[in-house]
Amino acid sequence: SAKAGRGGVAVYDDERDGSGRHRLEAVEQLRAGISGGQLVLHYQPKLALGTGEVEGVEALVRWEHPTRGLVYPDQFIELAESAGLMASLTTRVVELALAQCRSWADQGRWLTVAVNVSPSNLVDEQFPGEVARLLAAHDLPSGVLTLEVTESILMEDRDRAVGVLTRLRDAGVGVSIDDYGTGYSSLAYLATLPVTELKLDRAFVGEMAGSPRAESIVTSTLQLAHAMGLSFVAEGVEDQGTLDTLTFLGCDVVQGYHVSRPLPPEQLWAWLSERASE
Ligand code: C2E
Ligand code: CA
Ligand code: CA
Ligand code: CA
Repeated sequence: SAKAGRGGVAVYDDERDGSGRHRLEAVEQLRAGISGGQLVLHYQPKLALGTGEVEGVEALVRWEHPTRGLVYPDQFIELAESAGLMASLTTRVVELALAQCRSWADQGRWLTVAVNVSPSNLVDEQFPGEVARLLAAHDLPSGVLTLEVTESILMEDRDRAVGVLTRLRDAGVGVSIDDYGTGYSSLAYLATLPVTELKLDRAFVGEMAGSPRAESIVTSTLQLAHAMGLSFVAEGVEDQGTLDTLTFLGCDVVQGYHVSRPLPPEQLWAWLSERASE
């Protein structure tokens, strides 16, 4: 069931809907929302520790619901996936993200953009072509785009997922393993896949401060990622102490509230301008 996210109620909760009537309604609203321009993206900076620069952002979808206000992804991603709406949702998100990337580039600021993808996208033979079409439509090199996938996606229908990912990688799109450490796959196995980046789940990052055990998990994961040629990203960095430790350890990129919350594009632009003038 699509569980409630922060402070809100799930757009649809199957445990409270015996007849399924409410689900049908929620699906139709979501379908209309996707095609009707109700999806918006917020962007969270990815800070490269080597240069101290924000080189990219992660795009996080929100739904501007006509009556509920801003709805967070925890409240509709599962529904989109189970209702067969994920292909159109992801296409829309990639399109919005690339249009934004183009606009920033036109204003003199090149930023890479990361988009989250779901299981059904990775078994969709049309997906790599769709991504290529959108990159060309916005006159952008494929290197500006990274797709974030979770390990579970890669375990479900592995051969097809690897096939789709290989085509995306061959085209020059980056591939990141998101929420690393929450699944059961070994890093040795993951590194055989066409991936470029490892993103450690925020559960480990959040525990680092004050836990030598958590810190040693981060240290060994980072060393292994580097040995395999992957960029190492820590998400959920919420304090300066964690940032300092990650810098010391040689982490490549950090993301988290301590750097910035996800922001609407205009606010991100203001935030970037302020940093540049410091
Ligand atoms: P995720 O990919 O792991 O994204 C990170 C989530 O952590 C975001 O929540 C972000 O706002 C939050 N976050 C960032 N920094 C911090 C921090 O320092 N501390 C804490 N506690 N949280 C932090 P959000 O935006 O609600 O997204 C939730 C999840 O929804 C994402 O998790 C991702 O799995 C999914 N999602 C978001 N956008 C999309 C999308 O366009 N497509 C798909 N398929 N899934 C999406
Ligand atoms: Ca992500
Ligand atoms: Ca994550
Ligand atoms: Ca997550």
